[in-house]
Amino acid sequence: MSREPLSLDGLGELRRSHAARDLTPDRVGTEVVLAGWVHRRRDHGGVIFVDLRDREELVQVVFRPDACPEAHSRAHELRSEYVILVRGTVQRRSPETVNTKLPTGEVEVEVEELRLLNRATPPPFELEAETDADEGTRLRYRLHDLRRAPLQRALRLRHRLYQAVRKALVDLDFLEIETPVLAKSTPEGARDFLVPSRIHPGSFYALPQSPQIMKQLLMIAGFDRYFQIARCFRDEDQRADRQLEFTQVDLEMAFVGVEDVLQVLEEVTCQGCAVAGVELPRPFPRLSHAEALARYGSDRPDTRIQLELVDLTEAFRESGFRAFRDVVDAGGIVKCLPIHDAQALGRSEVDRLEGFVRKELGARGLAWIRVGEEGEWQSPIVKFLSDAERAAVAERTQARPGSLLFFQADQAQRADAVLSRLRTDLGQRLGRVDGRAWDVLFVVDFPLFERDEAGALTYTHQPFVAPRDEDIELLESAPERVRGTHYDVVLNGVELGSGSLRNHRADVQRRIFELLGYSKQQSEARFGFLLNALDIGAPPHGGFAYGYDRWAMLLAGFDSLRDVIAFPKTQRGQDLLMDSPAPVEPEQLDELALRIARRGRQEDD
Ligand code: ASP
Repeated sequence: MSREPLSLDGLGELRRSHAARDLTPDRVGTEVVLAGWVHRRRDHGGVIFVDLRDREELVQVVFRPDACPEAHSRAHELRSEYVILVRGTVQRRSPETVNTKLPTGEVEVEVEELRLLNRATPPPFELEAETDADEGTRLRYRLHDLRRAPLQRALRLRHRLYQAVRKALVDLDFLEIETPVLAKSTPEGARDFLVPSRIHPGSFYALPQSPQIMKQLLMIAGFDRYFQIARCFRDEDQRADRQLEFTQVDLEMAFVGVEDVLQVLEEVTCQGCAVAGVELPRPFPRLSHAEALARYGSDRPDTRIQLELVDLTEAFRESGFRAFRDVVDAGGIVKCLPIHDAQALGRSEVDRLEGFVRKELGARGLAWIRVGEEGEWQSPIVKFLSDAERAAVAERTQARPGSLLFFQADQAQRADAVLSRLRTDLGQRLGRVDGRAWDVLFVVDFPLFERDEAGALTYTHQPFVAPRDEDIELLESAPERVRGTHYDVVLNGVELGSGSLRNHRADVQRRIFELLGYSKQQSEARFGFLLNALDIGAPPHGGFAYGYDRWAMLLAGFDSLRDVIAFPKTQRGQDLLMDSPAPVEPEQLDELALRIARRGRQEDD
């Protein structure tokens, strides 16, 4: 039976009196006005039930033909996502109709008046907590996606985290100061986003990869304690835990050493985590960078996982087993991940892991030794090992019947990356975890420099990190031994943020630029303003930046940053809702004195 389309109502003088979440049994008998969306409509032989959804909760509203014929007859027309306002009375549901899954499930609202405020096209997928819509669809129809309860909850948590962090920092006497978004290129190591200047054709602003230099300038300008919840931009290829634009809680302090900053970080981290009911142990445990790599193969280990790596490089330094010995001769390492009681990992699983580390992690292979129930060693490599090597392996790994030992012989970084990945994957899969829900730590004592693939000296974090005072001399004699002042906060195996003391002495900063291979002219062209600023009386200073999206993601219990960002970009840097990036009018290019020389990837494929 087709009906005339309904006319729409205005809000009139009616206003929402309660939110759905307020409707608990103690409101029974209260007249309420609710506003929201039709989540679901059910027609039960005359009586029509609608789940009305507002920003936090659902509540059942009931249209009975006898109680209110007019509202009831209009309720037939309601469809998913129609926008309504209802006036009615809260009633207790009969015991057999109580919905225990809903916080408001003990009551319902008997409708006396309905206002239809707007219609809606049918939603592209059901707006339930669990959805099987693929991510592309969710991002294209982001507004529907955002109406789903988990995303509403995530963004509410994100909001509370802002407030908690802000309050913690303000209570610690930090000033909130904004820095420019149209800025100059800074060397965080990623590609810059450039913005062409119309007024200065051929010149470009860079969007900040972080406010790093600006916050240092603020210290020199005398502000002493600064923070900002800052948007940062890095034109990187996307990974699951990266976005082209992301948010940092950025802070900087003057007249401080490492300990002072760590105290602040502990306080702010605890207050932030408390918004999700997470209580962190204080003081935070600390791990040196060297120890983190040695035991876990990662500078952001999840220490809840009870598996640890064993370094066997020395045992193979003189080895007759060429595959290991050659790696050691070339400066590489031999490391092992022992897993005891590993009967659950059968031969086919080991083969699968080998395929995985070769294909996904660039490993050359995955050597292994299994210790059988009688203590016998089963392994393709065991015949190459001398008795002394076998004894060393057995002793260092504590191998026993049931143990499975995985080896990597490779350049240190790659060997560690492979074993650390196996450690987390297998540790979780086999339940080798200590049961703590949260694991926070400071990782400290990073080296100032490392060698890049070509063997040249490069910075471990960024070129402004100050060396430890007692190592400044080594900048001349043995720069690779210089220890930095860098520190990270790691939460559940994720780097929550990082920071350091900075070079406040221009001579030290200049020397570091030199060691990094910048010519005098290059340093002046890129960082002249910083070097000049250091010359005007820069106080010792240091700071930190939290990866805010990651923090919110961990606290909200999601695996993807996109779930805690209102309008995120896809892996390919697109906003599917607004359809950006997009071509612009030729006149706009003319104004900027730009010409497109070649079409982008998107149009080619
Ligand atoms: N600016 C640094 C970054 O974005 C963090 C810091 O050292 O404060 O990685």
